[in-house]
Amino acid sequence: MLDVYSLIPFDNPDGGVWKQGFDITYKSYEWDTEPLQVFVVPHSHNDPGWLKTFDDYFRDKTQYIFNNMVVKLKEDSRRKFMWSEISYLSKWWDVIDTQKKDAVKSLLENGQFEIVTGGWVMPDEAGPHYFALIDQLIEGHQWLEKNLGVKPQSGWSIDPFGHSPTMAYLLKRAGFSHMLIQRVHYAVKKHFALHKTLEFFWRQNWDMGSVTDIFCHMMPFYSYDIPHTCGPDPKICCQFDFKRLPGGRVGCPWGIPPETIYLGNVQNRAQMLLDQYRKKSKLFRTKVVLAPLGDDFRYSERTEWDQQFKNYQLLFDYMNSQPQLNVKIQFGTLSDYFDALDKADKNSGKSSQSVFPVLSGDFFTYADRDDHYWSGYFTSRPFYKRMDRVMESHLRTAEILYYFALRKAQKYKISKFLSSSHYTALSEARRNLGLFQHHDAITGTAKDWVVVDYGTRLFHSLMNLKKIIGDSALLLILKDKHTYDSYSSNNFLEMDLEQKSQDSLPQKNIIRLSAEPRYLVIYNPSEQDQNSVVSVYVSSPTVQVSSATGIPVEIQVSAVWDTADAISQTAYEISFLAHIPPLGLKVYKILESASSKSFLADYVLYNGKTEVKGIFNIKNIKSAEEGIMLENSFIKLRFGQYGLMQEMMNKEDGKHHVVKLEFSWYGTSNKKDKSGAYLFLPDREARLYGYTTLPFVRVMRGRIYSEVTSFFDHITHRVRLYNIQGVEGQSVEISNIVDIRKEYNREIAMRISSDINSQNRFYTDLNGYQIQPRVTMSKLPLQANVYPMTTMAYIQDAEHRLTLLSAQSLGVSSLKSGQIEVIMDRRLMQDDNRGLGQGVHDNKITANLFRILLEKRSVTNLEEEKKSVSYPSLLSHITSSFLNHPVFPMIEKVSSPTPQLLGEFSPLMSSLPCDIHLVNLRTIQSKVGHGHSDEAAFILHRKGFDCQFPSRDTGLLCSTTQGKILVQKLFNKFTVESLTPSSLSLMHSPPDARNISEINLSPMEISTFRIRLR
Ligand SMILES: [Zn+2]
Repeated sequence: MLDVYSLIPFDNPDGGVWKQGFDITYKSYEWDTEPLQVFVVPHSHNDPGWLKTFDDYFRDKTQYIFNNMVVKLKEDSRRKFMWSEISYLSKWWDVIDTQKKDAVKSLLENGQFEIVTGGWVMPDEAGPHYFALIDQLIEGHQWLEKNLGVKPQSGWSIDPFGHSPTMAYLLKRAGFSHMLIQRVHYAVKKHFALHKTLEFFWRQNWDMGSVTDIFCHMMPFYSYDIPHTCGPDPKICCQFDFKRLPGGRVGCPWGIPPETIYLGNVQNRAQMLLDQYRKKSKLFRTKVVLAPLGDDFRYSERTEWDQQFKNYQLLFDYMNSQPQLNVKIQFGTLSDYFDALDKADKNSGKSSQSVFPVLSGDFFTYADRDDHYWSGYFTSRPFYKRMDRVMESHLRTAEILYYFALRKAQKYKISKFLSSSHYTALSEARRNLGLFQHHDAITGTAKDWVVVDYGTRLFHSLMNLKKIIGDSALLLILKDKHTYDSYSSNNFLEMDLEQKSQDSLPQKNIIRLSAEPRYLVIYNPSEQDQNSVVSVYVSSPTVQVSSATGIPVEIQVSAVWDTADAISQTAYEISFLAHIPPLGLKVYKILESASSKSFLADYVLYNGKTEVKGIFNIKNIKSAEEGIMLENSFIKLRFGQYGLMQEMMNKEDGKHHVVKLEFSWYGTSNKKDKSGAYLFLPDREARLYGYTTLPFVRVMRGRIYSEVTSFFDHITHRVRLYNIQGVEGQSVEISNIVDIRKEYNREIAMRISSDINSQNRFYTDLNGYQIQPRVTMSKLPLQANVYPMTTMAYIQDAEHRLTLLSAQSLGVSSLKSGQIEVIMDRRLMQDDNRGLGQGVHDNKITANLFRILLEKRSVTNLEEEKKSVSYPSLLSHITSSFLNHPVFPMIEKVSSPTPQLLGEFSPLMSSLPCDIHLVNLRTIQSKVGHGHSDEAAFILHRKGFDCQFPSRDTGLLCSTTQGKILVQKLFNKFTVESLTPSSLSLMHSPPDARNISEINLSPMEISTFRIRLR
């Protein structure tokens, strides 16, 4: 795709009736030998929330679509219909009678009704992490397997605002052979149409062979509505949308309404429509044409079914009866089209080779017209983008611990756990997270109250997940499992973080200390051994933390600040280094007691002071003229007097690097079209964030970690360095609490400027799964050079790579050599004319979390740099997992009697290899009823990484094994009863599926196995 971008002029000339394209001509004899084959594909696009909530859309529209479908498809077996969002189908399924259910099943069986993709939603492809993309696909496919017994074959993604190859990979791994995409930059569409490459095999950029190839159809025109799907001229196509017949609620904006078809006009109308189909066909390599027939929430009224199906049938009958027209036309589904196309491809005769080209790369950043680039939504409503990631780490942890606990509960017959409602709550959480992956949810492009609906669902499930995590952890860590019954009901283990409402930031709970020790149980969500800093709030600074066996550990006691300059008199933070087994739990004891192992943090305050110092040593200094330094054994940082980082020294090579951190503002264009929820239309380059006075800066130095916190009007900016030898010490943690609720049409960005000679190249990840190289192009407007970042972005030169790792999806760019800029929040007062009908001004106080990693690298071949593939280093991967999957501290609620706990729970025999990630261990539903089976989906990902980083003491506590894992060496406390390969979403089993004893994964591979543990 980068090559395509360098070829396209992006000059946007007027293409005539097809405004963004060109004139299409044909000779009438072109179909003499092989007739044109047209599939008219009726569909209805149902957003699970946008202008209305999911429930309201269902009540007002969607239920009627399904109800009418059952009646109207039965009337004529030639009629067809297609559906993709299982969230809606399952909601309807729950309220209908068996008669309707049987009708649906028979329509599926005879091919009149088809499920396409079959995910819980049609997900956005920029913001979601692949964990959630896979999870919502499994949820949909599992529902289909249980209730309908169907397996979708074709992907249908017509509305997401740009397309990611990650989706292509996941569909391929789920067993799909064909897919369709729609929202692609208009200039790219035109280029592809000119070269007849709108249909291609989409290949992953790291695939040296063709194993990841999936056939992809790109819709050629502006929209998926009927005016833009029958052919190039919307004025004509609109006349064949019979919902727009005169007298209805919608008309044709091009001025000419449709006419009801009858004997007197059928010849003329058929000619008109066929002309459009023929022109459309000229953009493709076969003589099969796909003509989608639908729009948002279509087919909700019976009259519409009649209008469309009856009029089209008359047109079909006429066309099919005229041999001189050389056309075969019918209603079809997406798979009908792809089947016919495959046949045509095979019969094309030339050779065994397909006529279709191969393409790699992605389709961001989308523009639908002019300079209207959809890069605003990469950041819109960032509060919820962060909450989504928090929810994902909770869901994954709950899934893994639940399955382990479930197996133990079954073994020990712990009825209280077995009869709990945990599985129901778990599946509800999967569905709420799935719903949020919808292309108007995580994107931040729904109405204010719909955003609240999504937030409330996430919040509700987050609370439930915490309970499942606590209860499962308790069962696993109890010495005597049978005593579980006496503790579970009062939620014995409580999460250390608490979120009070759907739109507030999480707060740490304060642990009330006494001379009686309380348990602190810590879960490591990583599949590798981990040394991680754990910080909790306690009620007294006189505190001791010891291991389960009573050996005290070194702790740092730091102040808790009620405001920027006021120290809390009731809470203290303690931090210590915990060593936790992979996917395991570790028990510590905490009590009020003097300890020789506790160290107070020291403070220096600049440009302000505090009156009450409490127990801490605090120095007040007027201004930081000499500069502020922070250092650990890997890194030394220098800050300017604003408390912003200016220089970073990597102790490994002793070189000083400019790594200058700044904030900046964007305004919006003063033209008619302005930035909104979708679009980023800046007035000009960003202006630096200005200061009238020096900000208050608080520097803290401690044994475990040190940090600099600067207080600006709109941002509380904190830079933290961990003084530990492991992975956590090798990068700089950055936390920004952003509040722009008083601003007007502004967006706030964080910019890192460095001396890295990156020129116009940079790299962003897609869905946390793969890296996409980018080139900043001056022929494109600023907003076109902004890309989605799910987990990381980096710049590099021959010697170094600077990576910004992110704990939430945001928009990122590299507008100048050496720079990375990330947009953190946006407040826009107006609609941007894409149907939402409002701006985005429901801003919350938002937490953004990042890490900066500077790595030395050795590149021998600079030409290699221009390749279309790049990988993070192993260190970068592990650092990213620290950010996205932090450890879970849980505190014992005061209880009596105090139970006996094990010192640790260690489910794995040893760390998984460094490059292997356990995506999920997801309990599979039972075949009957609403409960669970005793199997789980064991989903593994072998990450691709770059070896061009000098191997040094990276503190990694793992090694790599070329993707090989021996099944019998996996688990410690469990026996693997069975482990069989499966397709990604559990839809297919390979024909020779049997128990395997060794797992082999290729780099980048994500694979699902069915596992049963005992
Ligand atoms: Zn949509």
